[in-house]
Amino acid sequence: MNMWRVLFWLLWGSAALWEALLHLLEWRYLKGKTGLPLDYKETTYLPSFKWDRSVAYAKERLKVSLGETLTNYALYALIVMWGVPTLIDEYLMLKIRAPLLASGLLGASMALLFWICSLPWSWIKVFDVERTFGFSRVTKKTFFRDQAIKLILMSLVSFGGLGCFALLFKSPLWPLYLAIALILFEIVAMFILPFVIIPMFFKLTPLTQGEVAEKLESFLAEMGLKNSGIYVADASKRTLHSNAFVSGLGKAKKIVLFDTLLSSLTPDEVCAVFGHELGHWISRHAIKRMGLLWTAQIILILLAYIMFNAGFGQSFHAQSPQTFAVYAFLFLNMLVTLFFQPLILSVSRRQELEADFFAASRLGGHQMAQALSKISTSNLGWLTSHPLYEMWYLTHPPIYERLKALKDIP
Ligand SMILES: [Zn+2]
Repeated sequence: MNMWRVLFWLLWGSAALWEALLHLLEWRYLKGKTGLPLDYKETTYLPSFKWDRSVAYAKERLKVSLGETLTNYALYALIVMWGVPTLIDEYLMLKIRAPLLASGLLGASMALLFWICSLPWSWIKVFDVERTFGFSRVTKKTFFRDQAIKLILMSLVSFGGLGCFALLFKSPLWPLYLAIALILFEIVAMFILPFVIIPMFFKLTPLTQGEVAEKLESFLAEMGLKNSGIYVADASKRTLHSNAFVSGLGKAKKIVLFDTLLSSLTPDEVCAVFGHELGHWISRHAIKRMGLLWTAQIILILLAYIMFNAGFGQSFHAQSPQTFAVYAFLFLNMLVTLFFQPLILSVSRRQELEADFFAASRLGGHQMAQALSKISTSNLGWLTSHPLYEMWYLTHPPIYERLKALKDIP
């Protein structure tokens, strides 16, 4: 076995073991939580927190997450052992005389493979876990519609991605062109997300009337900001979870509130959640995260360049640029999981605390804490996590940490 293959399997083994270990640590951590510890009682914001149900929900989701993770590693192993990309590529090249089209189709085939493997887990999540805990309202029809859209989007991106890679690869400066193309694609994707992708899943209605609308308007006016669009998503058709998010970049953005949020919170609490989302926007969190993502991507592209020149492709019998790209993607993806993921997520969690602070310092810590604890109680959100699990998986700090951070803000 040559060096790159040995490295691949070493990386595969360490990443799979590490992810399994993190799940195990979190499982043991949750198992130890049988009641409300003393110091949590100081947190007066969680009067009706359903401790046992929240632990049970967290455990069920953890099981599914482990199953999904291990399925992915099994798929990686089979792809490399059987040389799946090489087989598909040879077949496509033989059947289709247009090389660029064949490269794109290899991308779409790989997307289909990953989609098929994720399908059972999506089903379990929606119809087993979410339904058992009374959140999911998704019908079978909506489920398959959503999954079909997911498949189409994944295939389109992979088709374009590999087709583009094969084209750019013709130039010796391909790493440079690839970096530029990726950045451009991500900027365009950010712009069209709120206008094209989100409406595929939710019906968005502008929020213009009522007490909530008035409160949000006057909050915006106080901040000296123009209302460029607050929307309500009909999320209750799919889930009873409540949520809110900012989507898009610059002027082309939308602040979206789930209708479930509006029905479960008081107008003041909705205002606090809105303040949090506004905090993300004012602090330019999206663009900062993009900057970090781009830095990571440039490092990964440079690594791919080094790998190419050091015979990575030959080790995997990759005869074409597109097959090299697939194997390199799997390899680099595991590096991302082990080393980049905790870094990117730590920035994300810090931004969440900043957004909480933004809202709390303008509306009061009590109002923000009240809204957060109500949402986490109704979402059966978990209070704390194992520190390592938090580092590798959580985009938001556990709710207890967020409440603690709000304690000292008047
Ligand atoms: Zn946030």
